[in-house]
Amino acid sequence: MKTKIIKIDSDNILPDQLEEAVEILKQGGLVAFPTETVYGLGADGLNKEASRKIYEAKGRPSDNPLILHIAHLGALKELTIDCPEIGYQLAEAFWPGPLTMIFHKSEIVPYSATGGLDTVAIRMPSHPIAYELIRQTRAYIAAPSANISGRPSPTKAEHVIEDMDGRIDMIIDGGSVEIGLESTIIDITGPVPVLLRPGYITVPMIEAVVGKIAVDKAVLSTISDPSIVPKAPGMKYKHYAPKGQLTIYEGNNEAVVQAINKIAGEKQEEGYKVGIIATDETFDAYSYGTVKRIGSRSDEDTIANRLFDILRSFDKEGTEFIYTESFESNQLGQAIMNRLLKAAGYHKVTV
Ligand code: AMP
Ligand code: MG
Repeated sequence: MKTKIIKIDSDNILPDQLEEAVEILKQGGLVAFPTETVYGLGADGLNKEASRKIYEAKGRPSDNPLILHIAHLGALKELTIDCPEIGYQLAEAFWPGPLTMIFHKSEIVPYSATGGLDTVAIRMPSHPIAYELIRQTRAYIAAPSANISGRPSPTKAEHVIEDMDGRIDMIIDGGSVEIGLESTIIDITGPVPVLLRPGYITVPMIEAVVGKIAVDKAVLSTISDPSIVPKAPGMKYKHYAPKGQLTIYEGNNEAVVQAINKIAGEKQEEGYKVGIIATDETFDAYSYGTVKRIGSRSDEDTIANRLFDILRSFDKEGTEFIYTESFESNQLGQAIMNRLLKAAGYHKVTV
């Protein structure tokens, strides 16, 4: 398949610029587009054949449900049943934006989009291209991250091209995304809302709107524990993973730098290609391998934004062993550490 790549300026979308993408989606084709979180791989979410194509293009396990993207609140009435009041409160507070909510699904949502579940994940994205595309298609767009299953999510059009060129109909290049981590997911089908995946919208931000929420055990776990089955089916797969072996070092800054320098030096000596993820504060202290700067410890937005790009660039360079410092695990750091731990297959060393 030939993949058409078009460039669109998110701040200045021309009136007919999305026409072809809209037509492809209406015909059941696949279009990758930027959202504020990561690039999504879009298809008509109510068209079973179109959803099937998403699974095929990504190599995604069929029990891993899709998120339906909407552009108006009225969609909740059509796609869900028994939408609780807090659904509307959270929508009011965070939509359009990087929050996905799980609802009981209505009849019109096919099981092909929900991995066979009776619940459905819904989000209203704020990115102008994503929003306009959904609005103009007048459909509910299923859009998982536009990467091959298991690889780091795409935060730039180049990443989508790496994974999806030749597999989908169109890629809309709208530049780098703003956030760089997938949406926060919260399940509101039970008596107490449960956080299933941490993201840019943090627990304290949600609790400020709806009061105390619970956090799925799988989110809090810092070890690989087969007895903990995550409530978001997708969270059980190896994920966000670079090809090289990533190891996280935690402890006080000085000890971490010393330990990483030691192991990186040893691996380099053995002839391996070594990479280090450093912060602005420690960048100059590393002496081996390729050292990449992820940003200042005090600027979690930048760390979140650069994480997947750095993991992918180590892949491109054929890096075999990657070492990273660890980050605070509150606020946005909770989402950063969640992705890092999964990318590392829970390889973590405490010094
Ligand atoms: P992605 O779109 O690639 O970011 O992945 C979507 C995530 O949402 C996966 O982790 C799914 O398991 C999760 N998800 C989608 N629908 C549901 C649902 N009905 N219940 C729980 N998790 C869901
Ligand atoms: Mg994904």
